[in-house]
Amino acid sequence: MTQFKTLDDLPTDLSGKVVLVRVDLNLPMEGGSATDVTRVESAKPTILELADKGAKVLLLAHYGRPKGQRHSTMSTSWVQGDVEEVIGREIMFIPEVMGLVVEQSIGILGNGDIGLLDNVRFWPGEETNDADFAAGMAAHGDIYVNDAFSAAHRAHASTEGLAHLLPSYAGRAMEAELKALDVALGKPETPVAAVVGGAKVSSKLDVLHNLVGKVQHLIIGGGMANTFLAARGVDVGKSLCEHDLADTANAIMDKADQAGCTIHLPYDVMVAKEFAANPVSLRVCNVHEVAADEMILDIGPQAVEALADVLKNCRTLVWNGPLGAFETAPFDEATVALAKTAAALTQDGSLVSVAGGGDTVAALAHAGVKDDFTFVSTAGGAFLEWMEGKVLPGVAALQS
Ligand code: ADP
Ligand code: MG
Repeated sequence: MTQFKTLDDLPTDLSGKVVLVRVDLNLPMEGGSATDVTRVESAKPTILELADKGAKVLLLAHYGRPKGQRHSTMSTSWVQGDVEEVIGREIMFIPEVMGLVVEQSIGILGNGDIGLLDNVRFWPGEETNDADFAAGMAAHGDIYVNDAFSAAHRAHASTEGLAHLLPSYAGRAMEAELKALDVALGKPETPVAAVVGGAKVSSKLDVLHNLVGKVQHLIIGGGMANTFLAARGVDVGKSLCEHDLADTANAIMDKADQAGCTIHLPYDVMVAKEFAANPVSLRVCNVHEVAADEMILDIGPQAVEALADVLKNCRTLVWNGPLGAFETAPFDEATVALAKTAAALTQDGSLVSVAGGGDTVAALAHAGVKDDFTFVSTAGGAFLEWMEGKVLPGVAALQS
C-alpha cells in the first residue's frame, strides 16, 4: 500500500481553516428519520477531531440518486437532525456546495463549527468528475479530508477530483478501513483463507479470479457452491445454480490449481423440497445424494467442521457472502457456526478476520459475532471492488 496522509499529519491548531470533509450520509430513512446511523457514527471521530482542532468543518455528501438535479426529497437537510444527534453538536445546513451562499455561511461559522452542504449529486459535475465543478468546491476549502471509503470506488468530484486540488488526508474511518484491508489482502500473514458465498457466481466472478491468485484456501459456499459442484458433474437438483457458468467455474478451479490455492467445496449439504422455514422435507445428505426435486440451501455440518479446521490453520481470513440462505432457519446454521469459529480464533489472537458485504454484515450480526471480527466493512460496493483487486479511485487520489 502506498502511503496516504492521515489526520496525524495535520497541525494541531486548525483555527480559521476550512476543511471539506467527504462523508457517507446516505442513510436509510423511514418517516423522516434514519433507521441506521452507522455511517454517521463512523464519521464522528473525524468530524469531532477536526472541529476540536478549531477548523470550520464543511460536510460534503451525496444522498440518494438525484442524477444531477435538485430534488427537495433528496436534500441532505433530511439527515441534518440525525447527524446532529449522533455528533452531539449543532450543525448549520448550507443549501449549496459552492458560491456566495457557501462563502457567506463560512463567514458566519466560528472556529470549530460544523456546516452541512447540500447533496453534491444535485450537480451533474459531481458524477462526471467535472474539473470546474471540483475547482468551484475546492475554492472554499483549505484542506480536503475523505472519510467515505464506501464511496471511494466512484471517481466523482467529491471523492476523487477534490483530492487533486487541495492538500488531502484520509479521515479516521478511511484510515482504519485501508489499514484493515491491507492487513487482510495487501501483505497478510499466511496462510490466508477466503470465504466466498452468497447467491450467484456471476456477481462475484472478478472476486473469485482475484482471490485464487492471492489466498491459499478458497472456501466456496452459498448458491455459488452449487455452480461449482455442478461444473464438477454433481447433480444439484432444483438448487439455485448457474449451469451456463460451468466453464467459468472450471477455469477458476484450474487457475487455483496452478496458483497453489485449495478450493474447498462442501461434501455434505442441507436440502429441502420447498424453500420455507423448517420445512418437513429438510435433510442433510452427501452432495452426491441430492434428489432431482431437492434444493441445496446450506452447506452441511461435516463440511463446517472441516472448514473450521482450515481456519484453525490459517492466520488471515477474508469473508464475503453467507454460506447458505441464512435469512431462513435452519439454513443459517453453517454461516453461524463458521462465523463463531472465526470469531473465537480472532479473539484468541490466532486469526486476523476481515469481512464485508451487505448480507454478510447482517449474517455476522445474526450470529452475534460482528464485534468479534478484526474488522467488518459496511462499504458494500467499495468492499467488493477491493476484493476484486481493483484500485479504488478515491483511495488512489489520496495516495498521489
Ligand atoms: P453480500 O451482500 O454479503 O455480498 P450476497 O448478496 O452475494 O452477499 O448473497 C447473499 C444472499 O445469498 C442471501 O440472500 C442468501 O439467502 C443467498 N444464498 C446463500 N446461499 C444460498 C443458497 N444455497 N440458495 C439460495 N440462496 C442462497
Ligand atoms: Mg447482497
